[in-house]
Amino acid sequence: SEPVLEIRNLNVDYGLGDQAVRAVRDVNLTLHRGEVLGLAGESGSGKSTLAYGMTRLLPPPGVITGGEVIYHPEKGDPYDVLGLSDRELRGFRWAETAIVFQGAMNSLNPVHKISTQLTDVLRAHRPEMTEAARNARAREMLKLVGIAADRMDAYPHQLSGGMRQRVMIGMALILQPQVVIMDEPTTALDVVMQRQILGQLIELRERLGFSVVFITHDLSLLVEFSNRIAIMYGGRIVEEAPAAAIYKDALHPYSKGLLGSFPALRGPRRELTGIPGSPPDLKGMPSGCSFHPRCPKAFEPCPDKIPVLVPSGGDRSVACWLHE
Ligand code: ATP
Ligand code: SF4
Ligand code: MG
Repeated sequence: SEPVLEIRNLNVDYGLGDQAVRAVRDVNLTLHRGEVLGLAGESGSGKSTLAYGMTRLLPPPGVITGGEVIYHPEKGDPYDVLGLSDRELRGFRWAETAIVFQGAMNSLNPVHKISTQLTDVLRAHRPEMTEAARNARAREMLKLVGIAADRMDAYPHQLSGGMRQRVMIGMALILQPQVVIMDEPTTALDVVMQRQILGQLIELRERLGFSVVFITHDLSLLVEFSNRIAIMYGGRIVEEAPAAAIYKDALHPYSKGLLGSFPALRGPRRELTGIPGSPPDLKGMPSGCSFHPRCPKAFEPCPDKIPVLVPSGGDRSVACWLHE
């Protein structure tokens, strides 16, 4: 299917000059229309940096040092998000691409009713709408994410964490963006809530037709809910494949390790083995394949030469010398 967002050779650093560390390295990734793309990797692998880089929400000292993020609007010509002016960017965010991060539910304004916070987004982006139309749209969105009519005028503290998260999704969808990114940090361990939120988002996607990038450390969620999965290690995408292919037959030793570190979907619960060793330090990236010090399959070329992501048949690609 058609692409909606194409990330090309994206590089993101934290800091400048001698102090700079590269957190996203030469990332190439395409999000297609209507698909759910899962992004997985250990803590520190660069998932959030990639998400914030491609939406230009990177907090300082983050800097995009190269690449392109080509966005395909519903109407009109594709353009590079990295070339947008600040003013254009304000129109792009929310309206074309919306991002919801886990902590976001705590960013609701405590002194405003939730319905008001949704109408505020419309007031800023859709000045041509009447007050009545804004109210109607806000209520429709809240209903869509499962907030009962009698809760719409509640204040954030009157709602549970899960409900506040749903309000954030409603807010993210209110301008009908083509892309919704959800970033769940590894440290947030509430997988039950993640599952509910993701399930609901996918249901909405089927109705409204947007594309989703879902970021989590929980590969079992991704296997279940996404169409494609990209795995990150040390700032690079090391494998990208249809979800079923990752589950059945991951090619990269790191993907296999990640799969081994979550319990099986069906059948007896496996021991959580984890991957021995720790994620690489950005200041002292191992040479060659940055996974080589932890890789059970490392062989002669691995410490010397960086494997690049290459197609390996069946609509998938992998960056590993075992699969050249
Ligand atoms: P998690 O699963 O824990 O959310 P992540 O995959 O999202 O991890 P990032 O937050 O993107 O990882 O971080 C990637 C790397 O960039 C890490 O090594 C991190 O230490 C580094 N990093 C992140 N933010 C900053 C910052 N503000 N300054 C310097 N380094 C940073
Ligand atoms: Fe392991 Fe070598 Fe493949 Fe890297 S390139 S994952 S070290 S086998
Ligand atoms: Mg993160």
